[in-house]
Amino acid sequence: LKVTVSDINIPCSFGPAYEGERVRGADLHSQMGGGKTQCTELVKRAEMNEIEDGKVIVVGKDIADLNEGDTLPLGIFIQIAGREFQEDFEPIMERQIHHLVNYIQGIMHIGQRDISWVRVSKAAVDKGFTLKDIGVVLHAKFHQEFQKIVDKVQITLYTEKEDVAKLTATARAEYKTRDERVDKMTDEDVEIFYSCSLCQSFAPNHVCSVSPERTGLCGAYNWMDCRAAYEINPTGPNQPIEKGECLDPVLGQWKGVNEFVEKASRGAVTHYNFYSMVIDPMTTCGCCECIAAMLPSCNGVMTVNREFAGDTPSGMKFTTLAGVMGGGASSPGFVGHSKYNITQRKFIKGDGGLLRMVWMPKMLKEEIKDRLDQYGKENGYPDFYNMIADETVGTTEEEILPFLQEKGHPAMSMDSLIG
Ligand code: SF4
Ligand code: ZN
Repeated sequence: LKVTVSDINIPCSFGPAYEGERVRGADLHSQMGGGKTQCTELVKRAEMNEIEDGKVIVVGKDIADLNEGDTLPLGIFIQIAGREFQEDFEPIMERQIHHLVNYIQGIMHIGQRDISWVRVSKAAVDKGFTLKDIGVVLHAKFHQEFQKIVDKVQITLYTEKEDVAKLTATARAEYKTRDERVDKMTDEDVEIFYSCSLCQSFAPNHVCSVSPERTGLCGAYNWMDCRAAYEINPTGPNQPIEKGECLDPVLGQWKGVNEFVEKASRGAVTHYNFYSMVIDPMTTCGCCECIAAMLPSCNGVMTVNREFAGDTPSGMKFTTLAGVMGGGASSPGFVGHSKYNITQRKFIKGDGGLLRMVWMPKMLKEEIKDRLDQYGKENGYPDFYNMIADETVGTTEEEILPFLQEKGHPAMSMDSLIG
């Protein structure tokens, strides 16, 4: 791979060659996010006269103020102005942060939105890396790669807890608006789905197929976003997929998608189902917001979000699940998905749908409570929210089963999950 430092003025080497590089414990200088502190990213459109191109502001402490082992909250707020720049492009630009920050040698970026995680290595700090360099990189690359739509880029990096909290609140409202852009659409409505292969540098065979009712597993790309990304860059990582003949409407399988995925995964994956985690589920890469797993003794499934560090009834914590699953394979019994997808109508519909959900971390349940309640109401279980066990009920199948029985959880009376 070619390493280009060219016109990006930072003290570290920079290029795709460093994208897959890890910053392990022994090499770690400091970190932001990853469950230790809040780390949030937001791209917003600005008016031309509102911002100054190339301006990078760090509000609060920077790396030089830290000791080895320290953590810092971080808010990356990017404002973009351009005659051609539309609000629809915001999520696309925001998702670039992931690979672009990873291009910096010695810096690792995981996650997206309000669950991001930046790990800074000792080697990078020795070379003089500061948080400002993140802004320098994003400004330069946004101009280089998105010339058509970007005229001005200004970046503010917040590291004070209160500022980050404020940005996070704003960002969450934006994420919600974006998610809801596809809320009224169904997979039957469209003939075209979109691929996303942005994550292939980490998971070489992985390709997300994004349909209206199956947003990308990172939660950052939905069908609308992929369509906009394709408009901006017709030869880029988001390609239209003619879904073609429907091979299985219950599990969600299409001929055109299979053909596309087989080619895009270089033959590694020949087919997968959009609406099942039990039978040939979609592939999963390390970016997923949540991972669902079967709980056979409860005749149901659970899901766990990235921020939840505790044990789960699957016997594995999120990090273990992600390690096992995140390489781009299709693993029957497990699937990575976004938070929003949980309450999309087709979520594991082929396995009985969301009514199969018997366990979720309390924090996740609360985060999506409104939509869970709505789903419950629409599906004959208005009290569904209270029927789903969480860690306060138990973290093993044995512990939660009596609770599910007592509550009359719908999974208790459904067909057997496994055939
Ligand atoms: Fe694209 Fe999927 Fe990666 Fe999200 S997780 S950036 S949708 S490939
Ligand atoms: Zn990924």
